[in-house]
Amino acid sequence: MRSSCRSLLMKLDNTMVRKYFQRRLASYFLLVAFSLSLAGGPFSPARGQEPSPAPLLTTQPVNKAELHQALVDLTNTWTVMCVAAHPDDEDGTTLTVLRRRDGAHTVSLFSTYGEGGQNAVGPELYEELGVIRAQETMRAAKIQGSEPYFLGLKDFGFSKSADEAFKVWGHDEALRRMVLKIRELRPDVIITHHDTTSGHGHHQATGRLIIEAFDAAANPKRFPEQLNQVKPWQAQRLFVRIFGANAQKPAGETEKVFAIDPNEVDPVRGTSYAEQALAALQQHATQGPWPKSITDLMRARRIEAGKLPLIRYRLLREATGVPPLPQDAGTPLAGLELPATLIPSITPPKIEGRPLASFVDRPDRVLAVLIGWRASRGLLSLLTGDQERFRLFESRSDRALAVATGISITLSSRDTVLVPGGPSTFSIDFANPGTRAVHVDDLRFNGWGEPVRLDPADVLLPDTETNVNVDSTTPKNATLTVPQEEHLYDGLFLGKHFEANALVDFDGAKFFLRAELALPVVPALEIKRIWPSPCVRTEETLGWCDAFKVGLVNHLATPFRGTMEIGAANGAHTRTAIYQLVLAPNEQRDDTISIHDARPNRENLKERRSSGSVDFSIKAADSTDLITKRTVPVVYSAARVAQNLRVGYVPSFDQTLEHSLAALGVSSKALTIDEIKSADLSIFNTIIIDNRGYEAHPELVAANSRLLDFVQAGGTLIVFYHKDNEWNPDEKKNRPQLAPYPIILDDKRVTDENAPITFIQVRHPLLNSPNRITPADFSNWIQERGLYYPKQWDQHYTEIFSTNDPGEPPLIGGLLVAQHGKGNYIYTSMVWYRELRAGVPGAYRMFANMISYGHLHR
Ligand SMILES: [Zn+2]
Repeated sequence: MRSSCRSLLMKLDNTMVRKYFQRRLASYFLLVAFSLSLAGGPFSPARGQEPSPAPLLTTQPVNKAELHQALVDLTNTWTVMCVAAHPDDEDGTTLTVLRRRDGAHTVSLFSTYGEGGQNAVGPELYEELGVIRAQETMRAAKIQGSEPYFLGLKDFGFSKSADEAFKVWGHDEALRRMVLKIRELRPDVIITHHDTTSGHGHHQATGRLIIEAFDAAANPKRFPEQLNQVKPWQAQRLFVRIFGANAQKPAGETEKVFAIDPNEVDPVRGTSYAEQALAALQQHATQGPWPKSITDLMRARRIEAGKLPLIRYRLLREATGVPPLPQDAGTPLAGLELPATLIPSITPPKIEGRPLASFVDRPDRVLAVLIGWRASRGLLSLLTGDQERFRLFESRSDRALAVATGISITLSSRDTVLVPGGPSTFSIDFANPGTRAVHVDDLRFNGWGEPVRLDPADVLLPDTETNVNVDSTTPKNATLTVPQEEHLYDGLFLGKHFEANALVDFDGAKFFLRAELALPVVPALEIKRIWPSPCVRTEETLGWCDAFKVGLVNHLATPFRGTMEIGAANGAHTRTAIYQLVLAPNEQRDDTISIHDARPNRENLKERRSSGSVDFSIKAADSTDLITKRTVPVVYSAARVAQNLRVGYVPSFDQTLEHSLAALGVSSKALTIDEIKSADLSIFNTIIIDNRGYEAHPELVAANSRLLDFVQAGGTLIVFYHKDNEWNPDEKKNRPQLAPYPIILDDKRVTDENAPITFIQVRHPLLNSPNRITPADFSNWIQERGLYYPKQWDQHYTEIFSTNDPGEPPLIGGLLVAQHGKGNYIYTSMVWYRELRAGVPGAYRMFANMISYGHLHR
């Protein structure tokens, strides 16, 4: 009996940490089983009989919402998965209702980290943005009560078709990842709001993948190599959200639909589920701005009824033999049935025949019932049915016991980072706010390698906190988790994960407590940043990439002694130089490193007129091992600018304009909105409003007449791209037409970064001076050509470029220029900011022409 029971447990507990409790638990289960068999049969279901009331109250008030959630969760072992292409595409309201109201286990699965999008609040783009969006998504999920997972497919920016997405992702690879996540997470129901034909190409592709994955995950012949790790899984139902007018129509006879009412008020938290979902949505700050309240949201969506419309989903696929979805279903789970054999092992106790969640105002009664139930449970019901579902139920029971008893465990460290080979100290803190002593049966710390069994004080006395310290050494060969952006796709960007697990005994009820912590693993000496990167030099600044600012951090509590080796490669030329480094304990500083001694001369001109890279490598004095290395690309652009230009600019989210103007050797100044309002603008030849500048600085709208006066008087004003809803005249927002002659934007894009560009006005000065622009200047662009192209513009404007995505009509408003008074106005929807930031040489040449326009003959 002993051996068969143990091998069963081996199968049950394949999660890493629980495995280490097996031996101990096995004997515990055997004891319980034995006593149950004496008491009248091992298969008797758990009974929710209330033992005589005992003074089990905690000394702290129980968090009612938390307790309610933990108790509702006990009644629902279904898993609902929401599939979305990008962060903020998740169906927040539905996830919130299904978890908060119904206690379903809710997970969301994102195809990408959303790193190809724009950043509404900061300078980070690409993988750096992906790291931020992952963290925003985790915060949003916390509010929704869901768990986020990512497939890590690359977000390469807006695409118009699923085919374009599959070209980058690889259809089979994307499907493989999605099938694996379904097999791991075992959703009973899958929902999505992506159909297969509308919107962003990533949405369409995700909509197609989930339909395929629904079947493929259940088919052992698909991706059989995964079966070493996971079992095939058949989700029962797949739903797609209904949008537009159809969403509000009653379902047709044959149509199977469920609906969620976002206006429903959460009786425990006192807010509507829509309000909770909005609070989650607001966490996606890089994709804002979001409505500040439901009233704002309704105004923005022009909803006048005072109520948000129902959210409806249509049944798209179901597994064979699944009970039919009832008419007027209020949840995607309606009508689903669990195997009868499983039910006894996942049924929570009740009080007076009512669910525990109805008794959140009597936490003492709830606690007494939970304790009695857990202490007397028939654990041999483990022998039948769906082990993963049982495990979900068990972990939820652990959670309910922890909340009801108030016993908690936290894991922390006074170290904020970990250095390979270095020591660190963790602290595991128990709190027992109750009136009973609690026994700690087992405590494990899961860090590097095998979990460590710790020896806590055996007993947690009532109303006390107990602390256990763990000393640890970070292995010398531990993988670094910084820079975070380099670890987006391997998942290490969140740092090294640590866990503490305890098994406690409260009045004979045993349950697990778990705490987690993640810390970054950093090199002893970290290169935090190198500026400029990429380094762009132009005809005006051939010596520009001779010096770099390097931000260094010594993460050691002792001095760091070592070297930084600089290796610069330009075309066929390479140079190396070695710098001695001595940093005080925990010192942070910026060093300026010069890599050439000489000014540009005839010998090195060729070298300076080529692109290349510079490596920065750090070693400690006592070792030949490389501690860390970073590389800066160096780009040469044959760009010239008009002489003696003075350029003012209003930056939006990053330093691209500052860096690009510096690379062009132009005298420039960042302007505040107050300066636009009152400073003497006539000292500038050209002023640039960065992308989405009127959105980033709403006060700029009121100061706009000063900018138009500047143009009238002879200046050149360049306005980078805006979204239609940030630009087009809007009375409600007090926003007039911002250009001197009307320009109305649309939401059209050219997403193919290689889309051919035709020059409409071949002789136009913008294409000829100081730099003669050729089609080659549009090669090696990244991500896209432009977005939110104008749909109408005044005849004063001259169009310069025509371009289009394959198979689409040409868009000719990407760069519009008009004379106004003595000056010139340029509006451009092309993504100069992305190309300048990435160091695309041709973009520098065209940018130089724009800022020089109107000033060549001064
Ligand atoms: Zn999206």
